[in-house]
Amino acid sequence: MYSIGARELKGVVCGLGEPAFRANQLIGWVYARPIGAFSEMTDIPKSLRRTLEERYRLMPFCPAAKKYASDGVLKWAFEIEGGGIIESVYIPGEGKDTLCLSSQAGCALDCAFCATAKVGFRRNLRLEEIVGQLMHAVFELGRPAIRRIVFMGMGEPLLNVENILRAIEIFTLPSGLGFSPSRITVSSSGVVPGIVELAKKAPGVGLAVSLNAPDDERRAKVMSIAKKYPLKDLFEALRAWARTTRAPVTLEYVLLPGFNMALEDAPKLASLVRGVPCKINLIPFNPFLGASFRPPSDDEVDAFANRLLAKGLRVQIRRSRGLGALAACGQLGAGLLAGPRRLKALSG
Ligand code: SF4
Repeated sequence: MYSIGARELKGVVCGLGEPAFRANQLIGWVYARPIGAFSEMTDIPKSLRRTLEERYRLMPFCPAAKKYASDGVLKWAFEIEGGGIIESVYIPGEGKDTLCLSSQAGCALDCAFCATAKVGFRRNLRLEEIVGQLMHAVFELGRPAIRRIVFMGMGEPLLNVENILRAIEIFTLPSGLGFSPSRITVSSSGVVPGIVELAKKAPGVGLAVSLNAPDDERRAKVMSIAKKYPLKDLFEALRAWARTTRAPVTLEYVLLPGFNMALEDAPKLASLVRGVPCKINLIPFNPFLGASFRPPSDDEVDAFANRLLAKGLRVQIRRSRGLGALAACGQLGAGLLAGPRRLKALSG
């Protein structure tokens, strides 16, 4: 039932001859309480429970593997129908406990700094597989343990934008999970039509865009999407986003030594983002098997950050967590690269 929103549920209950208020009751049971069976819905008439049981599945999404990193980051791996593994990650932090969700099984884009790219693309996740990742975390940790949701896991969310929008609708149902849109962030590699769609249909959520180079030529070397949507088009969409949503965008910049963090890249980056309300997240590269970059040293990171700060930019260094569980940014799917022993690798 994790693919049913308020409107569909109203249609279902009315179609079964039940009063419309049952839809809200069911939303409460399905999304707000961690139950595993329709029989647990004690204030729903038995006949309706039986009908629901015959027609729908509650589908608790059962993880095939689970791994903790020493810093408390938790990663789950789920097997999906038709084969393939997807991963979601829980990152605890004072007042910022965050769940990172996958939107696709693998990824069709080919970002050079990302392990998921090496896994290849299987398919878009269905709505229930996206919502199911969150519901599993709710079953295991409880709803209060999750304060923020980010679509920064496997895949490009804006290439599965319809299901992402429907999932956001379900996450924000007041009688269900009750997330505020401002606590949900969609992270994209820069899919321009998806950014336009998101601004139209979910303007309250946060947007993060992966930038990673101050010019098209270098960006295209590490991100295949840059050939399709050059910086000129991307920044036009970001300006429109800021106008529509009145919210700043987060620009993610993976620090790749010898490629995009020379000191002269700082002024280039500053002039590129001029006029776009934004915050720049610097992410030191996280290594994985077969990667062609090395992680930057702390001194290199600080020097680049200071250069950007001196240019008046808002900058944050996002030191990675979850490295020990291959759960850090850019590492999802890295446990699958070893081949047939993939689940063993994931469960450590
Ligand atoms: S960074 Fe995102 S868009 Fe790029 S390959 Fe990885 S999952 Fe895909």
